[in-house]
Amino acid sequence: MKKRILLTLASLLVSLYASSTQAAPVKVVVTIPDLADFANRIGGDKVTVYAMASGVEDPHNVLMRPSMVTKLAQADLFIVMGLDLEHAYAPALLAESRNQKIQVGKPGYLDCSRGVSVREAPTSLDRSEGDVHPHGNPHYNTDPGRMRVVIGEIAARLSEIDPADAAQFQANAKQLTAKLDAKIVEWKQKLAGKNIRFVSYHPVWPYFAERFGVQPVGTIQPKPGIEPGPRYVDELIARMKADNIRLIVKESFYSDRLPKQIAAATGARLVSVPIQVHGTKEATDYIAFMDAVVNAFAGKE
Ligand SMILES: [Zn+2]
Repeated sequence: MKKRILLTLASLLVSLYASSTQAAPVKVVVTIPDLADFANRIGGDKVTVYAMASGVEDPHNVLMRPSMVTKLAQADLFIVMGLDLEHAYAPALLAESRNQKIQVGKPGYLDCSRGVSVREAPTSLDRSEGDVHPHGNPHYNTDPGRMRVVIGEIAARLSEIDPADAAQFQANAKQLTAKLDAKIVEWKQKLAGKNIRFVSYHPVWPYFAERFGVQPVGTIQPKPGIEPGPRYVDELIARMKADNIRLIVKESFYSDRLPKQIAAATGARLVSVPIQVHGTKEATDYIAFMDAVVNAFAGKE
């Protein structure tokens, strides 16, 4: 009798354990908040999502914290933008986590750039002058068309890790993509026919430009991540005057000292623009972020 009770208890414990592991959400860690927004919308209550970047900082320079290693150590899936956007912090933290499931090449590691056509791809790898875009431009989150591809990649990888909930992931991804497609039409209409030519602080916008027909004509940084000297700034001002460039786009985390100086010298309109979700307080999710970007470029009607 006693033996039977013990057996019953044991099998009860086993089934309790099984059901709790089945129900455990997939633990996802991402680098930028854009990826967190997508993972949350696709994963719903089947995932928990932790973003390393808060969104207000330069995405190339996210401050490393010990809590990030703890999150990575427990993660089932680590999602990055790739193209070395996270070069300054992600590889070191990933190594430190010692989590074999999420190392490069494992099913728990997703580099979203692998399905995306890259702009400004270099002919040779060169970090010699501090260029922070050695594999091409990593700011493809400014193109909602490329982010459609990312949505598909995240849904596919979540489905691989948690096949029982694959149908829900696919349905959520489909809904999110449809919403994004409708917004792309709206954003294109807002920017159509405006012939917007602009100078930005950092080369963030080639993907956005390709999608929406605006024209980046120069950057305040002579090379990605390199601050300009006075002669470079003077030359930029002269060129903006000669070419009648009327817009300066300052990515929100940069100081406005130089942009204000250049705006005063040229009479160009200066806007501060988020380059990722939570980059400004309006940018509460991916669509709100892109709304803010499009409105800043389009200006007041
Ligand atoms: Zn960059």
